[in-house]
Amino acid sequence: MQLNENITKLEQNYLFAEIAMRVRHYKEAHPEKEMLSLGINDVTRPLAPAVSEAMAEAAHEMRDAARFHGYGDVQGELFLRQAICGYYRALKVSIEPEDVFVSDGAKSDLANLCDLFAPQSTVLLPNPVYPVFYDTSVMAGRRILFSRGTKENGFLPMPDDHIHTDLIYLCSPNNPTGAVYTRAQLQAWVEYAHAHHACIIYDAAYEAYIRNAALPRSIFEIAGAETCAIEINSLSKMAGFTGVRCSWVIVPRALTAEGQSLHKLWMRRQTTKYNGTSYIVQRGAAAAFSPEGQRQVRRDVQYYMENADLIRTALHRSGVFTTGGEHAPYVWMECPYHMRSWDCFALLLRHYGIVSSPGVGFGEQGEGWLRFSSFGSREVIEKAAHLLTAMDWDQLALFA
Ligand code: PLP
Repeated sequence: MQLNENITKLEQNYLFAEIAMRVRHYKEAHPEKEMLSLGINDVTRPLAPAVSEAMAEAAHEMRDAARFHGYGDVQGELFLRQAICGYYRALKVSIEPEDVFVSDGAKSDLANLCDLFAPQSTVLLPNPVYPVFYDTSVMAGRRILFSRGTKENGFLPMPDDHIHTDLIYLCSPNNPTGAVYTRAQLQAWVEYAHAHHACIIYDAAYEAYIRNAALPRSIFEIAGAETCAIEINSLSKMAGFTGVRCSWVIVPRALTAEGQSLHKLWMRRQTTKYNGTSYIVQRGAAAAFSPEGQRQVRRDVQYYMENADLIRTALHRSGVFTTGGEHAPYVWMECPYHMRSWDCFALLLRHYGIVSSPGVGFGEQGEGWLRFSSFGSREVIEKAAHLLTAMDWDQLALFA
């Protein structure tokens, strides 16, 4: 038996599994200590009533022979693809249902899109970024280049014309830094992609958190993107679907590579390797896009953003530098006294029971930074904010 040698090149543990393991060990050693989790990617608000009612109704339909649904449209039911197009229309972006592919999660979509491109493709990844971009590229055997996010460029790396790449991954708002590209910056990426005949894979999983209407929420707000970009989005963070699972990919029919339609090839791939998203889930997803559903899910987004405001304010009062958290559910903190990420993570855990995410886990450019997630309950965030406000970093750094 021979292994795929690319999979053996991965780090032993996925970042969040590593954090969970360290927290578990700590809990076992200190069962009396309260843990305040600001480290996780997962949401805590329950499903919106409109969503849960639509799924319950769909489950009832399924026990009636006349209304039962078996295999559905692999691309996604038309009612949901139309609802997604309506969502884009509100952003003044014209997307046709034919260009939308519904699926079971942005993580799987990111991994599956690797099927479209040659194994020897070069990919340009932002650093730091969501680890799945890197890990799936390693597993696919890609040559990987990094565009570096720094404090100086606001963690928004820009293209360098001297570097050639075939694939470009962008994530805006960014996980972990919370940084958001402006229209002009995305326009520069689109122009670079055209100049290099490259394809942009644009992860918009956090677009619902953008509070400033001047900032772009979709790559397709940018002229020329329909011939060089694929967009991924998910209901996980927009509507609390982390446990329900539903996402979508937009592969415009105008997008080609080597004279072939990527839309057709993606359809071919999906019909072979996927059998469609659960009907019940798709009914729930469509309800999230209804006017009432949108009112309800936006309240939850607002709730998480108020959490982000609490975290940011607390950290500023304690005298540290942060970015993000204004248009994203993540606050990105520079560790004081040049502490390394895992050391700072360990100090907060040991002394305050606060769980964060070490920035270095998102790429070497994240070394010396920590990510705080605002997806916790208000009670947990308020307790953590109270501790963070009073944090004496001078004292704490002595233990590092
Ligand atoms: N993309 C980014 C940037 C994410 O942060 C996440 C989840 O944390 C995902 C994609 C995965 O989303 P899903 O739950 O749809 O798989």
